[in-house]
Amino acid sequence: SNPTDESARARIHPDIDDILVSQEEIAAKIAELAARVDADYAGREILLVGVLKGAVMVMADLSRALSVPITMDFMAVSSYGSTTSSSGVVRILKDLDRSIEGRDVLVVEDIIDSGLTLSWLLKNLRSRGPASLEVLALFRKPEAITVDVDLRYVGFDIPSAFVVGYGLDYAEHYRTLPFVGTLTPEAIARRA
Ligand code: 5GP
Ligand code: MG
Ligand code: MG
Repeated sequence: SNPTDESARARIHPDIDDILVSQEEIAAKIAELAARVDADYAGREILLVGVLKGAVMVMADLSRALSVPITMDFMAVSSYGSTTSSSGVVRILKDLDRSIEGRDVLVVEDIIDSGLTLSWLLKNLRSRGPASLEVLALFRKPEAITVDVDLRYVGFDIPSAFVVGYGLDYAEHYRTLPFVGTLTPEAIARRA
């Protein structure tokens, strides 16, 4: 990389290689998705189910952009396997606080990669008898398109690279970056 790349990178964040989606693009997309959700759920109350921890930023921004009444609950799940890919074997680390029976549930996800985590989660939630069950994911990778999960709302289709920022972590770091981007090889190696 040349000196220009280096100084641009240092201004953004020294560990970020490329910004894939900017803070402004995320904000505009959240507003657009919120308008669609408001229209679709007019006259109803939504139970937003955030999937920890990646979805915290989407939850915080989406929930405040919505006009329809909402309540929130959170789940934490963990897929066995490596930190950068999913195996589809899921364990509940934190369950919902309350029943979702008869509720209009909107699952709020950060990113869908293989779709295996979400597919397991939807099956689990469906068995609890919600009135409706839909999914909003801010990011989707190409592989997810082949998986049979119905995503009602998708923010951005992005390449299959590993990304961080806006809730997404690498070894628990980078979640507070306001944009989404890829890491430099050096940053990946440092925490590998
Ligand atoms: P899936 O089961 O769809 O393969 O993976 C879902 C979960 O893996 C996401 O909710 C997220 O926590 C994590 N994940 C998938 N792709 C990425 C990525 O590019 N960056 C980060 N930080 N996490 C990802
Ligand atoms: Mg997630
Ligand atoms: Mg993670």
